[in-house]
Parts: sequence; C-alpha cells; structure tokens
Amino acid sequence: MTAGAVDVLVIGGGQAGLAAGFYLHRLARDAARGRGGPAPSYAILDANDQPGGAWQYYWDTLELFSPAAYSSLPGYRMPPWTGAGNPSAEHVVAYLRAYEDRYGLPVHRPVTVHAVEDHPEGGYRTRTDRGTWASTVVINATGSWRRPFIPRIAGTQEFTGTQLHTTGYRGREPFAGRRVVVVGGGNSGAQIAADLLPAASVTWVTRRPPRYLPDEVDGRALFALATDHVQAVGRGEPSPGGVGSLGDIVAVPPVRRARDAGRLKAQPMFSAFTPTSIRWDDGRTLEVDAVLWCTGFRPDLAHLRPLGLSMDGTVPATVGDPSTGSGDRPGLFFLGYGDWCGPASATLIGVGAPARATVAAATDHLTRALENSR
Ligand code: FAD
Repeated sequence: MTAGAVDVLVIGGGQAGLAAGFYLHRLARDAARGRGGPAPSYAILDANDQPGGAWQYYWDTLELFSPAAYSSLPGYRMPPWTGAGNPSAEHVVAYLRAYEDRYGLPVHRPVTVHAVEDHPEGGYRTRTDRGTWASTVVINATGSWRRPFIPRIAGTQEFTGTQLHTTGYRGREPFAGRRVVVVGGGNSGAQIAADLLPAASVTWVTRRPPRYLPDEVDGRALFALATDHVQAVGRGEPSPGGVGSLGDIVAVPPVRRARDAGRLKAQPMFSAFTPTSIRWDDGRTLEVDAVLWCTGFRPDLAHLRPLGLSMDGTVPATVGDPSTGSGDRPGLFFLGYGDWCGPASATLIGVGAPARATVAAATDHLTRALENSR
C-alpha cells in the first residue's frame, strides 16, 4: 500500500525530528511569501502514539540539567517552569506537543518504520506498518530509547531477582524496602541512585570512579563546551577538551545533595551473578533483590539495514560539518543521536544547529537530484 510520496521523509517525531520539521516548515512559509525557491514537501513518521519522543517515558522525578530558557528548540522558547529546580520531563512533553501544534508539523503517528531501501526509480522507499513512502531524502531522527544496552555478565540468566534497564524505571515505589544495585556511572545511574535512596537500600556500581562535572556546569555550559571542541577540531586545532574531559555526571541538585551527604559512594563493577547475589572478582558477594542497568543506549537504526551502511566503530560513517550526512548514501541524514552527528545534538538546545544544516544539505541534494533527472 502506498502511503505517500514526499521530497523529504523524517523518521522519528521526537525533539530531533521536530527541529528538522521546523526548518522544513520555515522553507514552506518563505515560499508561500514568495521568498526563496519552491519548498520541499515533507512528512514526519513517529512510532509513538503521543508527542514527546523519549521524554514521555522518563521517570517522574527527573529534572532537566538546564533551566527552560536553555532547553529550547529553534523558533519557539520552552515556556518558563514555575516549579522548584529545573523543568520536569512532563514539561518537556507539553512543550514538544505545543511545538508540533504551533508549526502545524505533519507528524504521522503511530507509524513504525520497518525498512528503508533503495527505490527502483531513485531515492528511497520506506516500508512502514501503515504503507510505503517514497522520498528523495531520508532524515533519520529515531533516537536511541528503543535500543537499551546491557553488558554481558557471567550468570545473568541464573539471577532470580528483578533486572530493569533505565528505560523501565518510572519511579522508586516498586523498589521500596528492597536491596537494589544501580549499575552505571553516567547521568542516569547517578540520578536514579539518588532517586532511590529515600526508599531502598542502594548499592551504586560503576566501571570507573564517578566523575562529576563542576557543580556550576549545566546544560548551557555542556553545549558551549561541545561546540568549542567540534569547532577546534574542524579548524585542525588541538581540542580544548570536550565535555568528556571534564566529567560524566551533571551535578543536578538531587545528585549533589546525595553526594554531599556522603550517600552516593560507588563500588567497582562486579563480575558475576549468582541466583541471589552479585559477586566481585575478589570473591566478595552481596545479596540483592534488583539490578537497575543504567548502562546506556545504541542508536535505533535497525530499519536502515537494507542499505548496508559502512560503520565508523559502532555508528554509521558520516560526512559534513556538522557531520549529519551519511558517508555512503547521498540524501540520507542522521540527526540527534550524539556528538558523532553534531555537537550536543542529543540535547534540546543543541539539536537546532545540526537540524538547520541538515535541512540545508537536504535542499541542496534535492536541487542536484532534480537537475540530474532533467
Ligand atoms: P527520541 O526522543 O527518542 O525520539 C525519537 C522518536 O523516533 C521517538 O518518538 C520514537 O518513537 C521514534 N522512532 C524510533 N524508531 C522509529 C521507527 N523505526 N519508526 C518510526 N519512529 C521511530 N537532554 C537535554 O537537552 N536536557 C536534559 O536535561 C536531558 N536529560 C536527559 C536525561 C535522561 C535520563 C536521558 C536518557 C536523556 C536526557 N537528555 C537530555 C537527552 C534527550 O532527552 C534525548 O537525547 C532526546 O530524547 C533525544 O531526542 P531524539 O528526538 O533524538 O530521540
């Protein structure tokens, strides 16, 4: 069944897909006012049945690492947050819903993309659970929430307690009074460990000692650091040191309070499970009821398998500045996943610049494709 044909197909309707939508909308608005050339037609496909991307699944007490004014997508500022601290995930979901409405973005949901392949007549053919789309350009903005990563540990299958990834954590209530191991030295690990402390007996386990960013560093500073790093590297100069050189964990207030109270002390990573406990290399064991894996994600790109993309380590090879273009497929782009496709592009404030560059590169590609077809 044919669902539609457009110049640009955006896959994913989270913050990254919407940022691309904003710049595509702006081209249409300018064209309607007689400015610029004809605007590309476009559609956004999203597997969720509600707006908000991954934000709709975060736990209730999560707060952003930046104030609302520094957590905005292009064009429309996040409304101020009147609660304590920084905005909640729910505030972001409401913002993304309003963002879609404000620009009348053509988001089709729920639509799950199963495969992107070469179209016999040129461009791409995208197969979904609701028909097939044809397009000259595909912008992938599928995030990583649907691809949780859990490391392999000996005996995992024998462990009889609960195991959950960050993606399954909605709050501390189910863990009340239980012995919980939180694995992971990044933001999710630190935040979830701090969140559980009032209710559970928490052991925090990290591969290396936790590295906190200086307390004054928040999302604004992270974005500035990531940008400086990429620009210096782009100019062929030595990196001033990206975010990673400063630390892994943003000291948001709940994390800072738990750390300062001496309640966030990390243990080294264990090496095996028994049915009821975890075991370290030195023979120590700890009886536990639940293990929470805050061990990250991988880009959600299984639908691109038919294209046989070459990889740069664990991510597809990319080109451009910022590097959002596929290294082997003209007209294919990646938006939002991490620094490999634009500095700080996985953040609300950071995705605007790569989205603008991607839409500009997509427009160039469309112009060339049209010229070649004449
Ligand atoms: P997503 O939000 O995951 O959206 C991708 C969309 O694509 C989803 O709606 C999904 O349904 C859809 N999709 C996926 N596969 C398909 C498919 N095959 N077919 C159709 N649709 C598909 N960032 C900040 O700026 N500030 C913060 O304070 C902050 N805190 C964070 C805290 C945590 C715990 C985490 C995990 C992240 C945080 N981030 C923060 C980062 C940010 O939330 C994410 O990186 C962001 O959600 C990524 O947006 P995205 O649009 O790329 O992906």
